Amino acid sequence: MSNEFIFLPLGGSGEIGMNMNLFALGPPEARQWIMIDCGVTFAGPELPGIDLITPDHGYLLDDLDEGGEFLGMVLTHGHEDHIGAVAHLWPDFECDIYATPFTAELVRRKFDEVGITDAPIKVLDLSARFKLGPFDLEYITLTHSIPEPNAIAIRTEFGTVLHTGDWKIDPMPVLGEATDRTSLTDLGEAGVLAMICDSTNVFSEGHSGSESDVADALSQIISEQTGRVVVTTFASNVSRLVSVCRAATATDRSVCLLGRSMLRMIDVARHVDLLPPGISFVEPSEAGYLPHDKVLYLCTGSQGESRAALARIAREDHPELSLGEGDTVIFSSKVIPGNEKPIYEMMNALTDMDVTVISSDDAFVHVSGHPCREELKDMYQMVKPQTSIPVHGEARHIEEHAKLAMSLGVPHAVTPRNGDMIRLAPGRIKVIDEVPSGRLYLDGRILLPQGEGVIRARLRLGEEGLIVVSVAIDKSGKPLGQPIVTVKGLPREDNDGEELLPLIEESASDVMRSLPRPKLGDDKVIEAAMRRAIRAELFPRWGKRGDIVVAIIRG
Ligand SMILES: [Zn+2]
Ligand SMILES: [Zn+2]
Repeated sequence: MSNEFIFLPLGGSGEIGMNMNLFALGPPEARQWIMIDCGVTFAGPELPGIDLITPDHGYLLDDLDEGGEFLGMVLTHGHEDHIGAVAHLWPDFECDIYATPFTAELVRRKFDEVGITDAPIKVLDLSARFKLGPFDLEYITLTHSIPEPNAIAIRTEFGTVLHTGDWKIDPMPVLGEATDRTSLTDLGEAGVLAMICDSTNVFSEGHSGSESDVADALSQIISEQTGRVVVTTFASNVSRLVSVCRAATATDRSVCLLGRSMLRMIDVARHVDLLPPGISFVEPSEAGYLPHDKVLYLCTGSQGESRAALARIAREDHPELSLGEGDTVIFSSKVIPGNEKPIYEMMNALTDMDVTVISSDDAFVHVSGHPCREELKDMYQMVKPQTSIPVHGEARHIEEHAKLAMSLGVPHAVTPRNGDMIRLAPGRIKVIDEVPSGRLYLDGRILLPQGEGVIRARLRLGEEGLIVVSVAIDKSGKPLGQPIVTVKGLPREDNDGEELLPLIEESASDVMRSLPRPKLGDDKVIEAAMRRAIRAELFPRWGKRGDIVVAIIRG
């Protein structure tokens, strides 16, 4: 078979989160693959015990077993939805990892956390151009809401594809360079087969706004406060942290960091020399002694995360800070869909403490890191791709983005979902196959395939608790003593005040007494009789059947 150029998203297309974009060159039986980004999604309460979700990369692993070759992971930037799965999935590849300094340092610390010390992370300069097998790759500097956001130009024998990663066009970024318009325009002049592009904000008109404007607004708001000021934002938005620090300095306030990820991000930024001079911090113990109008806290927890600093402050459960009348909390962040409830609960708790709450609902304290429609237009005009392939969006974002691209004169658009194998060349760009894709759940240190019974069992435990009946039977087949019943998560008594546990114990004993000797030889018969008898007692009182486990010990 002849050579092809393939794009295959296994995560991030049809959802916002867990980006995993694969590119391949070569004949179908011997493809050479690279992976751009390897991110996670966070699990909600519908997945008890699961913190992180990664893309299911099983299709790729199978292909590598059948003649494929893996050349490496290339990372665009350091957000969790782009790098969060690297350290968890890397052991399946043991490949080189390519990233710019800030991203590389974040990834290195992720490997430390899982105890891997030998991952070969190749640190590249901004604007680096390098080869991976038949791929000629170039980092192009963009702007976003974290340091060092990069697009990647992928040059091949078939032509060039631009993978934008996440971006906005910030004309005046607080840290780092502005969007590298020259490289983008040059690429467009030379001809671009396809642009694979961020769809997050496609429904928003206009521009996303500049970090510098947020800096000015924050500095105005902070200067008007007379009590303690707490600012919460995404720790990875180092520009925002710097803007807040500058505003604090201008109003003679010392800055104190609260929350692990805040400390880690500042440490990483300092490690790679990103922090401008003049930024310094005081320890919480010191901050506690400062006059209220001389201190500002930069705090994690803008999304209502229950263990983060701000949630603890709102519950009056923080060891180093308690707020009250005269103090102000600024949410320099947005409400990520799905997090409304914990965020508003926190805001209400703070309001009840007489704290003033300022958020993007009432002030200009946040800008998005993703391109609105005018910025998308600008990008399409620079890059002029022949085909638009929108990613980094839910189905509705991706379809709208394709429509917008076509309206801007892009001749062709393909709208992928995870698992769509798209042939970029030769021929007209189209989906040629649908391959298995899905999710893996990180349960402690173990990656579980989606659909495994573990989660179902946990949800059921959450609904009905657990009833364990242990019975012992001696060598002659006679019951030994009484059954022992253990319950978890069962109501103690019914509405008439009748206790449930003794009822269960009694019916378990009845079963053991009433079963004839030959039937006591059959575990299945005992289990079925136990379940029937206990449910007959429980259901009329409780309205639930209960999850009943019968443990039989034979002498
Ligand atoms: Zn992203
Ligand atoms: Zn991002």
